[in-house]
Amino acid sequence: MSIFSRILDGSIPCHRVYEDDLTLAFLDINPLAPGHTLVIPKEAQATVMDLSEKSAAGIGRVLPRITRAACAAAGVQECNIIQNNGAGAGQEVMHVHFHVIPKSSEFGLRKQWTPRPLADGEAEEILRIMQASVEQE
Ligand code: 5GP
Repeated sequence: MSIFSRILDGSIPCHRVYEDDLTLAFLDINPLAPGHTLVIPKEAQATVMDLSEKSAAGIGRVLPRITRAACAAAGVQECNIIQNNGAGAGQEVMHVHFHVIPKSSEFGLRKQWTPRPLADGEAEEILRIMQASVEQE
């Protein structure tokens, strides 16, 4: 059982922003910005790959509203939404969660990724795998 399951069952307190039958949104205990909020499904799954479409839709439905509220709390109009899957990808709590992180020059997420252009033929090979995966479900 993850710490977020214990927040969901009320055995650990949180600063609750929003709740409905499928989702809970609460302030991150160690925020990168004012209003840094975690939006989680009530369904206990570790990664988004395991999440039901119903729970995913429930999160998608409330994300714009929660994001507007987080930005209002921080007094900004820009933000990042990030979602880590797996320890190697930086996930520490093994219950799906979306971070909503308001952004200003003083606070928020620092983008540190190193993109490179697609190589010749690479997109076609990736699409072959991905389209087969999407279509078989
Ligand atoms: P992850 O690294 O798994 O994407 O993010 C986990 C997040 O959960 C971190 O930002 C961390 O501060 C937050 N967190 C961990 N434990 C608690 C807790 O007990 N309460 C709240 N509100 N946030 C937590």
